[in-house]
Amino acid sequence: MIKKLLLCLALVSLTAAACPAADTAPGTKRRGQFALTFDDGPGYITGDLLKLLEKRGVKATFFMLGSSVRADPAMAKKVHDAGHLVANHTDTHKNWFKTGRAGDREKVFLSEVKKAEEAIVKATGEKPSVLRMPNGYTAPWVREAAKKLGYRTANWSYGSDWTRTPEDRMTAEYVKSVRTGKVLLLHDGGGKNREKTLRITEAVLNEAQRLGLEPVRLDVLLKGPDPKE
Ligand SMILES: [Zn+2]
Repeated sequence: MIKKLLLCLALVSLTAAACPAADTAPGTKRRGQFALTFDDGPGYITGDLLKLLEKRGVKATFFMLGSSVRADPAMAKKVHDAGHLVANHTDTHKNWFKTGRAGDREKVFLSEVKKAEEAIVKATGEKPSVLRMPNGYTAPWVREAAKKLGYRTANWSYGSDWTRTPEDRMTAEYVKSVRTGKVLLLHDGGGKNREKTLRITEAVLNEAQRLGLEPVRLDVLLKGPDPKE
C-alpha cells in the first residue's frame, strides 16, 4: 500500500498526472469523473429525469427526504432499480442552522436520519450510506454522529438552482462547473418549477460529453480523493 502510494506520488511529481486507479486495465484511458446529485425528491419531475439519465446512459445520486419517499415510494424504488445511488437527506429538511444550536440536536439528528433511512429501506430494500444535511449544514458533531450511524457526509462543489439567478445565466454557471472531481447539486423535489432541472441537466451532460468527462455516482467519485465540502 505504502509502496503503491509512493509510486503514485512519484508518478504525480514526474508527470503531474493523476494517479491511475488500481482497477484501470493497462492501456485504457481513465476519464475524468464528476457527480450529478439531485436533492429533496422524489418530486414530480423525477420520472422525466430518470428517462433523461437513461437516454444518456448516466448514473447519478439522489439525496432523498424521508417525507418525499413516503409520498412516492414507487418512484424511490424506480430510482434505485435504475442503478442510481439513493442517499439520505434527512426526514423533513429542518433548518439545521437553528436546530444545530439546540440542546437536543443529537436526538433530533438521530430521529431525522433514522426516519428517512427507514422510508428509503422500506421503498428500495437498501440502506443508504451517504448523507447530505439540509442546506449544506456541516459541523464536526454532525460528521461524528453520521459516522456512528454508518454514514459518510457529502456536500457539493456547485449549485444555484434555488436562487433567483436567471435560467440562462444559471445554466452557464452549471456548465462552467463541469470539471473533474466536482459535485453538482440540482433539485428534483421540494418545490415548483423544477423543469429547469431537466434543461440544466441536459446542458451539463452535453458539456461533459464535449469535455470527455464521465458523470458517476457519488460513491464512485468518493472512492477517489475527498471532495471539497
Ligand atoms: Zn435539500
